[in-house]
Amino acid sequence: MIVVMKPNVNEEREAQLIEWLKGMNLGVHVSRGEFQTVLGLVGDTSKVDMELIESLDIVDSVKRVSETFKFCNRKFHPDDTLVKIGNVTVGGGHFVLMAGPCSVENEEQIVTVAKAVKASGADILRGGAFKPRTSPYDFQGLKGEGLELLKLARKETGLPIVSEIMSVQDLPLFEDIDVLQVGARNMQNFDLLKELGRTDKPVLLKRGLANTLKELLMSAEYIMASGNENVILCERGIRTFSDYTRNTLDLSAVPMLHELTHLPVVVDPSHSTGMARLVPPMSLAAAASGADGLIIEVHNDPIHALCDGAQSLRPEEFDTLVKKIRKVREAVR
Ligand code: PEP
Ligand code: MN
Repeated sequence: MIVVMKPNVNEEREAQLIEWLKGMNLGVHVSRGEFQTVLGLVGDTSKVDMELIESLDIVDSVKRVSETFKFCNRKFHPDDTLVKIGNVTVGGGHFVLMAGPCSVENEEQIVTVAKAVKASGADILRGGAFKPRTSPYDFQGLKGEGLELLKLARKETGLPIVSEIMSVQDLPLFEDIDVLQVGARNMQNFDLLKELGRTDKPVLLKRGLANTLKELLMSAEYIMASGNENVILCERGIRTFSDYTRNTLDLSAVPMLHELTHLPVVVDPSHSTGMARLVPPMSLAAAASGADGLIIEVHNDPIHALCDGAQSLRPEEFDTLVKKIRKVREAVR
């Protein structure tokens, strides 16, 4: 249920209303917009007398929210959420470029790529240290050592870092990592989501391989209901009957999610296509669709990459692409 307050209401009376609602065992999420304040009520609202609340002179309207997701629902929070990552802001028209290799392989590789993507205009460095590989015989990532190398690359470039966390037990290792990525395969690892909800770190939540938008939003809800509202959603392609591409990039997810939720939405053109040559056109399409950013795999030597070389751009290809992305952004602004 949401309670839309009238503009410029007396603060004391608003506080009294909030206390009264909390007294009914309800969680009250307060969203202060530019013009109006919205109170989002979470819990069993079946016994709440809507007409009584609506009759108060400080209340504009009361509406039931039929969707099962509440905290991430745009009805609860009409303005875009801005997620802050150091000096970088994601959401609400702030476009963010995340780039880097699929996996951190060694110091020279990660520092070289970090410097290159920074020079091209990337805002955040990506790099996997814990890798969810389909085969247990494939490179599983450098784990703790990989995270240390990412921190070194951050020190060299000043770029904040994003890396995937696969298990709750690894959380202490991620204390100094700027953004925690939840990969597609872990989108419904609810224990992990709840634990990340108890931190205040930005979480990049990727859509599962075969998950609906509602399921993605319910996973965001797990993080937010545990107290962490710094969630960035990521469309990274889903499984369909389409052949030739690794996944199918569902770009309609971007405007649909923007309607449903106030959280930023970024697009991963690398995992959704699986082919480096498809990354530029899909990046431009994603920018045109209104995405709040992109996460792109870039490798200094894709042919010898230990993971996802076929979908990785070379630094010079990334540089060319960034210039085109800027033009598309300007064109659709
Ligand atoms: C990745 O970002 O390297 C990755 C494994 O992505 P996804 O979880 O989307 O497959
Ligand atoms: Mn990858």
